[in-house]
Amino acid sequence: MSHHELIQATTAGLNCSLGEFCIDPTRPVRTAVITHGHSDHARAGSHRYICSPQTAPILRHRLGKTINTTTLEPGETIDLRDTRVSLHPAGHLLGSTQVRVEHDHHVWVVTGDYKRHPDPTCAPFEVVPCDVLISECTFGLPIYRWPEPEHVFNDINQWWRDCQAQQRTAVLSVYALGKAQRILAAIDPTIGPVAVHGSIHPLNKLYRDLGISLPDWTKLDARNAAELKGRALVLAPPAARNTTWIRKLTPVSTAAASGWMTVRGRRRHDALDRGFVISDHADWPGLLQTIRDTGARRVGLTHGNTETLVRYLRESGVDAFAIATTRHHDEAAP
Ligand SMILES: [Zn+2]
Repeated sequence: MSHHELIQATTAGLNCSLGEFCIDPTRPVRTAVITHGHSDHARAGSHRYICSPQTAPILRHRLGKTINTTTLEPGETIDLRDTRVSLHPAGHLLGSTQVRVEHDHHVWVVTGDYKRHPDPTCAPFEVVPCDVLISECTFGLPIYRWPEPEHVFNDINQWWRDCQAQQRTAVLSVYALGKAQRILAAIDPTIGPVAVHGSIHPLNKLYRDLGISLPDWTKLDARNAAELKGRALVLAPPAARNTTWIRKLTPVSTAAASGWMTVRGRRRHDALDRGFVISDHADWPGLLQTIRDTGARRVGLTHGNTETLVRYLRESGVDAFAIATTRHHDEAAP
């Protein structure tokens, strides 16, 4: 097998036949190397999961306590058949990693999901030099340029204060794993009580158990809704919107925190009062910067707007190609 095929897209996901493993497989395999705990990357049924020490408890929470995990510290290597594999921080959420695969002095890196902006709830993205980079491309259009997170968190705090002044409950839609904890760590907890949806509560506890500093929160339930009403910031996954619990908190102001909030029509479509542009993925400049930083001669792109970035890179002299995947990206909903 040539170096050109060290990692290939298959129906099971990104497969490395020389190493006999699959990265973030979409169906059960013998050896799964998992980049992070989002459900579209971490699926049940594989015989063995290789992941970071922080991803292992997230997988056990989501896939069951009996799964067989092998953990690798950042940069620690493991030999899988004819390849040497190591994991390196991706800055996407706690425990998220890139996968470095080496065979015969030839190096491929699969980024998984990643971002370049700072995030106090996880280790920062590490640039890993490679010959071939397989990068995510969720926000691969020039319109996606993230504002400084600090400014966005100030805006969220101000919106929360404004809601209180109008005696409205501030309900913010966030992805339950990663985004919820990043927001919780960044908001000003002196403004008022913070409550989280039941699906977010155990993940917050998991983050704390893994040493991430988070301010106190309340788990939202039928009993405490009345006292939180008009004062609290409530974090809930998008799927929880328009369910009965939200009625107990009315009047509410609704918002979402996502890279998709760049597109105004998206906020209108979701009938939200506010949209905050904050993403755990790389924006357009972040994608280009990362491709440059790694020194990769070939670049494969997965998820999102691959066509635009492939064309842009080819015009810049980079050997770029799209990789078809069946997965839906985890920010499909805001
Ligand atoms: Zn993800």
